[in-house]
Amino acid sequence: MAEISTLAKYPFLNASKDYVKDNNLSVSEILDDPLYERARMIGLERIDKSFKNRDAGNRSLSGETDCIMELLSYPIARMIAVCIGDVYFKRRYALGEAVHAYKNLINEQMSFLTQVSKEFDIKIEYDEDANKIKIHFTDYLKYAPTRYKEWKMINREMSQGYINISHKDLARLIQEALRARINNELDSRQCNNAIYKTFSTDIQRIQNTVMMHRKKIEAVPVGRLDVEKLPPCIKDILAAIQAGENVPHAGRFALVAFLNSIKLSTNDILKLFSTAPDYEEERTRYQVEHITGDISATSYKPPGCDKMRTYGICPVEKIDGLCKRTRHPLSYYTAKWGQEKKKK
Ligand code: SF4
Repeated sequence: MAEISTLAKYPFLNASKDYVKDNNLSVSEILDDPLYERARMIGLERIDKSFKNRDAGNRSLSGETDCIMELLSYPIARMIAVCIGDVYFKRRYALGEAVHAYKNLINEQMSFLTQVSKEFDIKIEYDEDANKIKIHFTDYLKYAPTRYKEWKMINREMSQGYINISHKDLARLIQEALRARINNELDSRQCNNAIYKTFSTDIQRIQNTVMMHRKKIEAVPVGRLDVEKLPPCIKDILAAIQAGENVPHAGRFALVAFLNSIKLSTNDILKLFSTAPDYEEERTRYQVEHITGDISATSYKPPGCDKMRTYGICPVEKIDGLCKRTRHPLSYYTAKWGQEKKKK
């Protein structure tokens, strides 16, 4: 069993979950017992800080009690995030936790990073004498933020299927794996009534903040776009980009080609991207104009559902009846407009 201070810093690891299980703590104890008041407060702080600052926040851990409160605050925060229920919010929260973990991971020994990589099934090889780390290219491609120049495969050397990376790179790749894990956990859970009751005031306060934030985003004039009519795949990619998540190239490509096909101008597409916390206009404009054909010979068509599934960007758990009747995200969008016209 890892030290309690380590579990407190990384409460999403399996060992941390085992600790909570092994101590037989029930949800009602965590929610009602005055002993865990501090854990509940930190849980809310994690949520607020992740949404506002893109970082779940640092707290000093000076003894065992501090560590236990910090460790328990994570499942509490996660349960609150599930009850808030907004996909954009959930993504921002997952990102805040993952970014915070990254800031801790860069200061850890290689032995710890190796252990965490194993837990996430990230294949690495570490040569201690030469202090060299290699990662299998499939895991690199899965987690690397390849929209940044330094992460593009063309700028990395590959030998026998492995790519050399630094200690800091490995921490960044784990950040991404962790974000994906937290996202899955948030998406696969239902809101617990007891949690909702205990935190209802805060849940409503945060839901209002999220709504105001979303209104600001959606108030951006964006041509003929109606976000509510977007198919689940495009809605997901857009929410992820606006939350500042690392979206793989295929996702960014599908989104831009889709928006271009529904006749959004390059400037309107850029306005949608501009709400991301890490937005860089020049780089994004170049990528968008390349796909729309403004600076290339081809105006690319958006991929159909089969291809979206092959790229792993059709959220199969979210597909609805209309998805089942259409074979292209564009047909979905057009059909939604048709349904509205019929209603009128
Ligand atoms: S089935 Fe097609 S339209 Fe629906 S979410 Fe998947 S890719 Fe998108």
